[in-house]
Amino acid sequence: MDYLNNSIYTQMFLHIKAMRNNNDRHQFACMICGDELVYDTKSNDYECMYCHEVQQSQIYCPNGHFVCDECHSSDAIGLLQMMLVHETETNPIEIVEKAFVHQSFSFHGPEHHSFVPTAILIALKNRNVARSDGESITDEIILEGIRRGSKIPGGFCGYAEACGACVGVGVAIALFTGSTPKK
Ligand SMILES: [Zn+2]
Ligand SMILES: [Zn+2]
Repeated sequence: MDYLNNSIYTQMFLHIKAMRNNNDRHQFACMICGDELVYDTKSNDYECMYCHEVQQSQIYCPNGHFVCDECHSSDAIGLLQMMLVHETETNPIEIVEKAFVHQSFSFHGPEHHSFVPTAILIALKNRNVARSDGESITDEIILEGIRRGSKIPGGFCGYAEACGACVGVGVAIALFTGSTPKK
């Protein structure tokens, strides 16, 4: 599976996970950068990098990262559903990187199939790009992208020799153009 290790997608994923995992004491490490968390005696306001809610916390990363408890414990699909509402980023690569560092994303897993269309559609929505029919990209459209992506089964990539995440690009385009089996 050398081709897997050479893809930019894979390299990016491994790099980010390695940064996070280089600290053995996981529960004391920032889930974004892997640095040791600071346990302060007083609380300060921090903005969650996923839902952008400002919360008080005594625990912080020296590099300025903060993830609220709800986002920290979210599963992968829950994270995507939350990001589609709150994410303001317009670069799909940035959105992908943000999801990658979340602990719910493993190296292999069907969640990748949902998160590619989600990242593309969120970026288009945040750039105010209209769909082919002139309508805007709504949260409902992005939710449909998550649903369709989640129907691509785990292991699909190896069994079909077509990466499920790449099929997810097609899902984004289908929702952008409004294509159906008859159209
Ligand atoms: Zn950090
Ligand atoms: Zn949050």
